[in-house]
Amino acid sequence: MHTLPPSIKSVKNAGLALTPQRLVQVIHVMLVAILVCAVIAMSENKWPAASVLSALASLLLIAIWLAKTSRVEGAAKVVVITMTCAMGMMSYLFDGIYDAAVCAFPAIMIFAAMFVTRRFFLTLLLLIFAILTMVVVANLTGWHINVTSPVSFASLVNVVAILGATSFFVWKLASDLRQALALLETENDRIREALTHIDTLAHNDALTGLPNRLLARARFEQAVDLSKRSNERIAVIYLDLDNFKTVNDSLGHAAGDTLLCEVAKRLKNTVRTSDTVSRQGGDEFLIVIAGQADQESVATVAVKIIELLTAPFQINGMEISATCSLGVALYPDDGNDFDSLLKHADIAMYKAKDCGRNGFRFYDAEMNTNVIEHLHLISGIRSALLKHEFKLHYQPQFDLRTGQIVGAEALIRWQNPELGIIPPSKFIPVAERSGQIHEIGAWVITEACRQTKEWQEAGLQKFVTAVNLSPVQFRRDNIERDLMNALDVSGLHASFLELELTESLLIVDSTQISPLLKRLRSMGIHLSIDDFGTGYSNLGYLSRFEVERLKIDQSFIRRMIENPQDEGIVRAIIEMAHSLRLEVVAEGVENQAALTRLQELGCEFGQGYHWSPALPPDEFFKFVSNHSVGNVSEQD
Ligand code: C2E
Ligand code: MG
Ligand code: MG
Repeated sequence: MHTLPPSIKSVKNAGLALTPQRLVQVIHVMLVAILVCAVIAMSENKWPAASVLSALASLLLIAIWLAKTSRVEGAAKVVVITMTCAMGMMSYLFDGIYDAAVCAFPAIMIFAAMFVTRRFFLTLLLLIFAILTMVVVANLTGWHINVTSPVSFASLVNVVAILGATSFFVWKLASDLRQALALLETENDRIREALTHIDTLAHNDALTGLPNRLLARARFEQAVDLSKRSNERIAVIYLDLDNFKTVNDSLGHAAGDTLLCEVAKRLKNTVRTSDTVSRQGGDEFLIVIAGQADQESVATVAVKIIELLTAPFQINGMEISATCSLGVALYPDDGNDFDSLLKHADIAMYKAKDCGRNGFRFYDAEMNTNVIEHLHLISGIRSALLKHEFKLHYQPQFDLRTGQIVGAEALIRWQNPELGIIPPSKFIPVAERSGQIHEIGAWVITEACRQTKEWQEAGLQKFVTAVNLSPVQFRRDNIERDLMNALDVSGLHASFLELELTESLLIVDSTQISPLLKRLRSMGIHLSIDDFGTGYSNLGYLSRFEVERLKIDQSFIRRMIENPQDEGIVRAIIEMAHSLRLEVVAEGVENQAALTRLQELGCEFGQGYHWSPALPPDEFFKFVSNHSVGNVSEQD
């Protein structure tokens, strides 16, 4: 069954439709008027008139009964028919077409027009015409001549009663109608407001108020129509914030939301009003810029956007910098429709991220091939795990004071039968995004422990083996179990295992990470921070976690000889680490000059091509056997 919308129901209730109560009210007034006329007729001894009026009164009583039993339309029809016949008869019997009863016809017609069908209305009109014609014809043919009665107070009362009754119900019905119209108007306003709200919700992002993808698409299509005439290009720019996750994780979602709103504000203020800045979701924005002559003009806009976001934001009283990576696709060069341009701009944005972030890239067709390669990588990783194509290579770590080997870093390699060796930088990020890092990570830990124990049993001097852990591995709670299993199965003592953590893991102020690291440390496992200097380099967390070593990122070490600024950074990290009682490992030591400088700066450990790259296990075994190995277990 269909139900009426609330607005229509309330309009009906307000009286646009005839309600039984209103009808009964109108009939009562008619009844009073008719009874007045009947009394006057009796007082003037007009018995036929009195009896007609009495019959009419009884019919009206039937109409009241119908109305009260909710047969409103039937009651309305009885009323109009009864009134028409009665008024017709009165005019026939008394003053002809000049009779006061004729005054009631317009009101009867108004009543009928509002509440009965069109066909019924026309029939009624014809009936009235027929009655009046009959009265006139009867007079003209002499069959029934009306003698107009002299004017008296009784006739005045008659006219007043008829006019009074009809005016009453016309007024009542009109006011019902006015009320209904007013209500309708209010409902209309409400519906209009609701529609505007729905439209805003459907086309705008709730957090930033920016247009969403739907509206961006519509604006893009408008821009295409215009650009077809002007022959200009449209730039579709995909923007992704580089460090949003870190902000969200470390400062909380409310701060993340504030940052997104601030970014939205800045972006909106940079572009022209004819351009569109929209939010795609998360920390991704889409900017559609029309009227571009060539790549150069778009590049100018991209640089402007990057510079604009580089300036720090004030969030919760803290200065936050939010760099971004942009991917640009051009209409019509890179696609003719919104979806393909969006896809291409997205691909270009990932390329910009791969190339070191805080930059932009234009789409080119070759990138698409890379994406397909990327998809192949995901399925390749799955089968590589099954087919044992992953291998660990080991890079020796040296004590810079004694020159002895004190450890090894296990670095994963993928030996693909078709593509050869695939470096971790290519597949680890993919595995992190697809979740396969959990399986890979568990395998790395097991294999590194097994290999280290095997070397120990083969008589190689004991050293600590470091494995790299991705922050993603800490999102599940089975990392501790994986470590305990690996140590159990291999029989390796925990003090020969080191975990290389990333800064981003530690700045996430997670209530679980800190106790977990404490437990690992109490088992004897060593903890270090990898690639120090490239992330937030926030000293606050160092004291909170039981980290023992900082590994200075190789980019600083490799450049420190030529670049005094890098040397300054290295020196500052070493001094800071020492004041916090942390040891320092320099990564990427490629030559004697760097080694000498590091020794002068008091750096304890180093690894790099100066000694050896990461080697397969058998080569590593030979390499270590040819050197004197320091037994670090003695340090524990
Ligand atoms: P990382 O942990 O900072 O590893 C050091 C990287 O620097 C290694 O690259 C190593 O081969 C390279 N390297 C060492 N000495 C030198 C040098 O003197 N000069 C230069 N230019 N490079 C040097 P690799 O093996 O390609 O690994 C890259 C990154 O992949 C690693 O950086 C690490 O973050 C990640 N990774 C490697 N293995 C694993 C793993 O098993 N699990 C996880 N989660 N990540 C891994
Ligand atoms: Mg490492
Ligand atoms: Mg490193």
